[in-house]
Order: sequence, then C-alpha cells, then structure tokens
Amino acid sequence: MLDTQWFIQWVTRSHALIHEHREELTELDRQIGDADHGENMCRGYDAALQALHEQEPTSPAEVCKTLAKIMISTVGGASGPLYGTAFLRMSKAATEPIDAPTFLACIKAGLTGIQDRGKATTGEKTMVDAWSTAIEYGEEELAKNSDLPALISALTRGAQAGAQASIAMHATKGRASYLGERSQGVMDPGCASTAYIFEAMENAQ
Ligand code: ADP
Ligand code: MG
Repeated sequence: MLDTQWFIQWVTRSHALIHEHREELTELDRQIGDADHGENMCRGYDAALQALHEQEPTSPAEVCKTLAKIMISTVGGASGPLYGTAFLRMSKAATEPIDAPTFLACIKAGLTGIQDRGKATTGEKTMVDAWSTAIEYGEEELAKNSDLPALISALTRGAQAGAQASIAMHATKGRASYLGERSQGVMDPGCASTAYIFEAMENAQ
C-alpha cells in the first residue's frame, strides 16, 4: 500500500529529478514556448518541499493537497494551475488504503482535472499526452492483476512513451500552438516534466 511516507518521498524525488533536468526543460520550452518551464517547475517543487517540511502531512491526500496549492500559487504559467488541478483531484481520490487500483484511479482523476482545466485532448502536444499514455499502460498492466511496483513501472514507461510521441505532434493548445507546424520535432516541455514526475514514483518507498 502507498502511505503518507511514500507520497512525501515521491515529492522529494520529483524535486530532485526536476532540478537535475531544469536546463533541459527550459531548453525545450525555449524552442516551442517562452523558456521558463524549468524555472517554473523548480520554483514549485522548492516551495512544495519547504511546505511539507514546515507542516508534516498526516495522509497521502494531504500531501497531494499541499502540492496542489503550492503549484497553483507559485508555478504560474499554464502548467501551474494544470498540475495544481491534477494534484487536487488526486488528493480527493487518494483514500486509504491505496492499493494498485486505487492508485490508478488517482492518476486518472489527475488527468480528468488537467482536461477540465485546459480543455486539451490527446494528440494536441500537451502534458495530456504523457498522462494519458501512462494511464493506458497502467490499465494494461492492471488487467494482469499486477501489484503496485509493476503498476508504477508501467505508468513510468507510459509517461515516457507519451512524451516521446509528443515530439512528432503539431501543437494545437498552449503557447506552442502559436508556432503551428513549426512546433513539430521538439518534445512538449510539460510532457517532459510529467515523465520525470512519474519516474520519481519508481524507488519511492
Ligand atoms: P507557459 O506556457 O505559460 O509558459 P509552462 O512553460 O510552465 O507555461 O508550461 C507549458 C506546458 O503546459 C506545455 O508544454 C504543455 O504541456 C502544458 N499546457 C499548456 N496548455 C495546456 C492545456 N491547455 N492543456 C494541457 N496542458 C497544457
Ligand atoms: Mg513556458
């Protein structure tokens, strides 16, 4: 089961991976946006870690709720409210005990939040593509009655596959859509950060 400690570790590992790839996220956004995605995400995860240290959460839902509030108030840009809504919906779905089906339901609730907020569907070269491919892989894994580690590994592989697939896409939502067809050939920055946030789930304990 995923407990409060696991969720705190997930945020801690996300913080580390986002910082490690800060330049890369900003460079992708430089090519098809306004070159601030790495900074935006680092600012958010710095504030999230600080908030979790200041007031230790007592449930997975509380971790997600803190993360959501911080994303909305500190990240800015398009991605702050989108990630914020995702984590807020995850907090509502994170009722313990969190086994594999419940965790997949949390991730699905997160994607629904992103889509309610941003109105993007798959194939529009946004973070929706990484989240939705992660869910596809997760569903396939869960159909085999898999345990949490197998589900998490499938979610990670799916997010990475969705991010890779975004390279060939032509953006029709978000800032990259201003470039039209010229947005093709570059990974969507929000897909790239999503892939790291999902990768951070692996090895969280
Ligand atoms: P901004 O575009 O305001 O500078 P960021 O650079 O932080 O914000 O985030 C850009 C990312 O936000 C994009 O790469 C994309 O994944 C995501 N995004 C933008 N608009 C939408 C939308 N309508 N739906 C889903 N994701 C979106
Ligand atoms: Mg940007």
